[in-house]
Amino acid sequence: MPESLSTDVLIVGGGVAGLWLNARLRREGFATVLVEKGTLGGGQSVKSQGIIHGGTKYALQGALTGASEAIADMPRRWREALSGNGELDLSGVRLLSDAHYLWSPGTLAGNLTSFFASKAVRSRVGQVKGSELPPALQHPKFKGKVYRLSELVLDVPSLITRLAELAGDSLLTGQRIEPLREGDELVGLRIDERDVRAQRIVFSAGGGTAELLATLGLQQPAMQRRPLHMVMVKAPTLKPLYAHCLGGGTKPRITVTSHPTADGEWVWYLGGDLAEADGVARDEASQIATAKKELAGLVPWIDLSAAHWATLRIDRAEPAQSSLARPDNAFLAAPLSTSSRLLVGWPTKLALSPDFADRVLAALERDGIRPQRQPPLPPLPRPAITGPFWEGLLP
Ligand code: FAD
Repeated sequence: MPESLSTDVLIVGGGVAGLWLNARLRREGFATVLVEKGTLGGGQSVKSQGIIHGGTKYALQGALTGASEAIADMPRRWREALSGNGELDLSGVRLLSDAHYLWSPGTLAGNLTSFFASKAVRSRVGQVKGSELPPALQHPKFKGKVYRLSELVLDVPSLITRLAELAGDSLLTGQRIEPLREGDELVGLRIDERDVRAQRIVFSAGGGTAELLATLGLQQPAMQRRPLHMVMVKAPTLKPLYAHCLGGGTKPRITVTSHPTADGEWVWYLGGDLAEADGVARDEASQIATAKKELAGLVPWIDLSAAHWATLRIDRAEPAQSSLARPDNAFLAAPLSTSSRLLVGWPTKLALSPDFADRVLAALERDGIRPQRQPPLPPLPRPAITGPFWEGLLP
């Protein structure tokens, strides 16, 4: 006989979206179980750049879009959580940088003119010079302009560790997931040898969500993958840098974040346009060669002769959009019917995890779902927590 458990909300997927939601629900008094098949945070979350966007980079496309509006409040909410005074207590999570920077290496007046045309952007951005420049750019040979954005960069492994602490006894490692039905109604999931019944089931399994939906015979909501080919470089000469480096287009030419290694050095993690379509088409060697050329042009004073290089292919998983456009908000749907127990979604950005949780809480409120008196959970086998993935890829 399978072991039988009961909870208010059963969450599938322990990336930042599922973990944040789990912590919020528990804080609101809901009983939860979160099931993860791999390591907590080991999907897209730990491989993200950890930037808590406020949407400023989207203003490069001209006027502020829906994206910028929805995301604008995220830095404040994360800051409050990091200080221990927000919707979650994330005190102790390592803040890598209190600001992200916009770096214009040459004369890109056209680009910046449209950017600064927005009043909302002007109020959030200030130019920095001299000793205020990010350490990696403080060099006599540096030319260009740098603007400080009111956005944060987090150490994602420490964020995942903290969110796992806030999960208490709710975490469950599980591989095989099947629907648990009573009549036609989905009432829970069979997870390996356990039946877990719940008032609501939330799929927040990132790239695994399409497959989970298929186990229920569902194809909606449709998911899209956006492949990226990221580059990592590690060298004793690297100082931290967190910046979108502008090219001529509306997307950053390179987005650089810096991540600490166990031996006290820094890894620069390079995304932006470099990692998108053309970068995806390149093999590892030519992607590294392209990145080397970019850095040689942009920061020629940094000696990278002893650097170690690697690349990482990773897909972003998001709700399907026309022509693979970037989704604007966290996304949540009730694919069976609005009164069914199943909710499915993607935060679409790590930064939007609070928005994802808001949407789930709003759906619970709409459906009159309240915390019920649930029996205490037996000890459950816990999933491991991911570590810094770059340690395994670079010497
Ligand atoms: P994931 O982190 O992928 O977690 C899903 C989890 O579900 C995984 O742990 C997986 O093992 C688990 N799972 C899957 N299937 C099952 C199953 N059947 N049963 C149980 N568990 C299952 N966003 C930002 O805001 N800022 C950034 O700087 C940023 N940079 C990025 C850089 C890159 C290279 C990439 C790829 C993304 C970046 N993003 C960024 C986006 C961000 O990483 C994602 O939006 C966010 O991490 C998604 O979180 P998630 O919890 O939905 O997914």
